[in-house]
Amino acid sequence: MGLFVQKYGGSSVADAVCMRRVAKRIRDTQADGHQVVVVVSAMGDTTDDLITLAKQVNPEPNEREMDSLLATGEMASSAILTMALNAIGVKAISMTGHQAGIRVDGTHLKAKIEAIDPKRIHRHLKQGFVVVVAGFQGTNRRKDTATLGRGGSDTTAVALAAALKADRCQILKDVDGIFTANPRVVPKAHKLEVITYDEMLELASCGAEVLQSRAVECAKNYGVVLEVVSSFVIKPGTLVREEVDTMEKMIIRGIAADKNQAKATLLGVPDTPGVAARIFKTLAAANINVDMIVQNVSAAGITDVSFTVGRDDVAKTRRVIEPLVKTIRAEGLNFDDNIAKVSLVGVGMKSHSGVAYKMFDVLAAKKVNIEMISTSEIKISVAVRATHADQAVRALHTAFGMDAPTKKKAKKTAAKTATAAKQKQ
Ligand code: ASP
Ligand code: MG
Repeated sequence: MGLFVQKYGGSSVADAVCMRRVAKRIRDTQADGHQVVVVVSAMGDTTDDLITLAKQVNPEPNEREMDSLLATGEMASSAILTMALNAIGVKAISMTGHQAGIRVDGTHLKAKIEAIDPKRIHRHLKQGFVVVVAGFQGTNRRKDTATLGRGGSDTTAVALAAALKADRCQILKDVDGIFTANPRVVPKAHKLEVITYDEMLELASCGAEVLQSRAVECAKNYGVVLEVVSSFVIKPGTLVREEVDTMEKMIIRGIAADKNQAKATLLGVPDTPGVAARIFKTLAAANINVDMIVQNVSAAGITDVSFTVGRDDVAKTRRVIEPLVKTIRAEGLNFDDNIAKVSLVGVGMKSHSGVAYKMFDVLAAKKVNIEMISTSEIKISVAVRATHADQAVRALHTAFGMDAPTKKKAKKTAAKTATAAKQKQ
């Protein structure tokens, strides 16, 4: 018997039918002898709809009011799910973030959880209740409600699992787990049994956001083992956990493509000390996240500097960098948003050499031009033409031996194993 925290996302609780199905799943978990704390997101697109509604009455809504509004989405779904549980004979009680003892800092719309007082949840669990907590929210010192940023219910679940010392934190989704690549792009992608926190974080920053990164960071800090599982069918999902020795055997764990990037190039920049510092200081001051950076070899004392930013930041980047073109005496500035970032991620890279070479070789064979490169200890990213991204991901997936065995092959292997087993007998 253990204490399980189960988090159900918006699409898993989108309507009454989904709610009833989730309720049964919770009943089954309880029937297996576990205590269950459930964290829910707002139903379906509720949060988006509430934001749209707010903007219709005020283009720049006050953040405190926005938080009061958005928190209602999760409150509604926690109450409705509790009713669904009651209807099938499960003792359950819903709680807002405040009632669940979740205290957050003073920032609105992206508050951080500061502390959780789990007394009340423990009390109800002891009385045999399933406790259904509204995700994505908490109360600050002023007793105001604040929300945790989009996708924040994952963080609520992890933080609760840590505070309650839960045995398991399950994130139930409308996918079966975490895949080696996006199955919509790579039909041969397959579900991973396990992935490290760091690999998950890298993949998320490379465009494969299955879990909210903050939730993964929180899980890493508190050693909470996460399990991403399907909310529709009961079968093993993917464990997200700390690295263990054998995990380095697999060189590449996942491949991601991020098409939400744009490349900015400052042309004819004087190649003198301090220029790069000025460019990137300006970007940092404007809170613009820069990902890849390339500086060309200088000719006659001038060079080009390119960097990538999120596509949403292009207008802002233009606004802050354009005035700088004159001050640093550069020749011009241009943007290119037809690029994509393709990344290989895996802790095995730390102990295997030649990964970069192999990646570049595969891309060359497909005539995919590499425009920029960046690396970390467990990641290699390249910027390529956006139109080449999917093809590049598929080729890399095959070249690194990550394709799931085809059905025919799988049958053959199964047959072989069966024969081998017979022979052994
Ligand atoms: N409902 C919030 C959102 O859509 C929080 C969540 O779903 O985790 O961002
Ligand atoms: Mg949502």
